[in-house]
Amino acid sequence: MNIALFGPPGAGKGTQAKELSKHYAIPHISTGDILRANVRDGTELGMKAKEYMDKGQLVPDDVLIGLIKNRLNESDCESGYLLDGYPRTIPQADALKLILEEIGKPMDAVLNIEVSDEELVARLGGRRTCSCGESYHVKFNPPEKDGVCNACGAELYQRDDDMEDVIRQRLATYNEKTKPLMNYYKDQEILVDIDGSNTVDAVFADILEVMDQFK
Ligand code: AMP
Repeated sequence: MNIALFGPPGAGKGTQAKELSKHYAIPHISTGDILRANVRDGTELGMKAKEYMDKGQLVPDDVLIGLIKNRLNESDCESGYLLDGYPRTIPQADALKLILEEIGKPMDAVLNIEVSDEELVARLGGRRTCSCGESYHVKFNPPEKDGVCNACGAELYQRDDDMEDVIRQRLATYNEKTKPLMNYYKDQEILVDIDGSNTVDAVFADILEVMDQFK
């Protein structure tokens, strides 16, 4: 299965991606996670990306296009892929189309997870993240022990870009740069809308139901 998850920051793409990746046995490719790992490791890419990420802006297209091309050429993508957070601009989508043609794996579906702006701000402001990839919410999904990851025991942190002023900027960036991609994929008839305001399990069930038509 070849899938991309589309939707604003805080829509639950990462959470759904983890489950979908297990369900279809395909790699979860989150460009945000890859960039954050580079920031943590202090790589050249990470240092460059951090400037943009901290401001809620998009990292330049050429950086992301190179990154995704390398990742999609790795052997685990032979079984398919689940893109999370890529593409985010029309040039990224154009580049992706060419890469997918080259590797012979066109996209089956783009899942558009919809959530209201109000809800997004509440979700992102309370989000707590672990470097192992797990994420929690102080109110809606708290860890068993305050500030500690259930899965690996590490200390949770609030992403720099989950601060209120950066959240607003990320939503503005999404509306300006990423939302136009909806029509891009609607025209290709592979965009499917999913109501992301329901519980995690309900959203997952909805996704599996719509994915049935792409089998
Ligand atoms: P995410 O974890 O997907 O919310 O991404 C966090 C941040 O990483 C974004 O706000 C951007 O600064 C950067 N980023 C992730 N994916 C992309 C992308 N496809 N294009 C540009 N910047 C990206």
